Amino acid sequence: MRDRGGNAGQTTDGKPSIHPAIDNGITPGNGDFSGGTLSCKCTSKPVKVRVGAQTAHNHACGCSKCWKPQGARFSLVAVVSREAVSVAENEDKLAVVDSSAPIQRHACTECGTHMFGRIEDESHPFHGLDFVHTELSSERGWSEPKFAAFVSSIIETGEKPDNMDKIRGRLRELGLTPYDVLAPELMDAISTHKAKQSGALPA
Ligand SMILES: [Zn+2]
Ligand SMILES: [Zn+2]
Repeated sequence: MRDRGGNAGQTTDGKPSIHPAIDNGITPGNGDFSGGTLSCKCTSKPVKVRVGAQTAHNHACGCSKCWKPQGARFSLVAVVSREAVSVAENEDKLAVVDSSAPIQRHACTECGTHMFGRIEDESHPFHGLDFVHTELSSERGWSEPKFAAFVSSIIETGEKPDNMDKIRGRLRELGLTPYDVLAPELMDAISTHKAKQSGALPA
């Protein structure tokens, strides 16, 4: 596993770095934005993935599975309808990172960048949504991150527990409410899906 948490640094003003794209503040998305193209980090023959819609539920994620750039404590990850996602170039370089995981993360085998995560299990609450990192696009206007998920999980990849107060404080300062699982609306969506499957709520 790549070491990151323990080595993740501070911004120039001494605040804990969250992710380079938001350490200097968050730019709001554009309501009229309708998509763009994600490119992996390869300098030759990059994998290109077309995302033909605005994303939703963009957030900072502290889990150990999401792709993040070198030195970042958190990933930035959003969802979009899977119908809107298609591989435009160099699909032969893509492979699934862990085919046993609920989210099949399709990554570039050369540079390691995750291009999209897809759920094939039709009973999964988030089936139909792909997970994407819109920082891989040069277009501006993608929905901005609105909360931070799986915050305590950064300890699992090396963050010092003593740093957590400062990190949660910095997330709040950026306007990203920190949660140790997902945000309430997403947790409610998961539970509603389960209740409809079990019959506890009408389908
Ligand atoms: Zn690549
Ligand atoms: Zn994650």
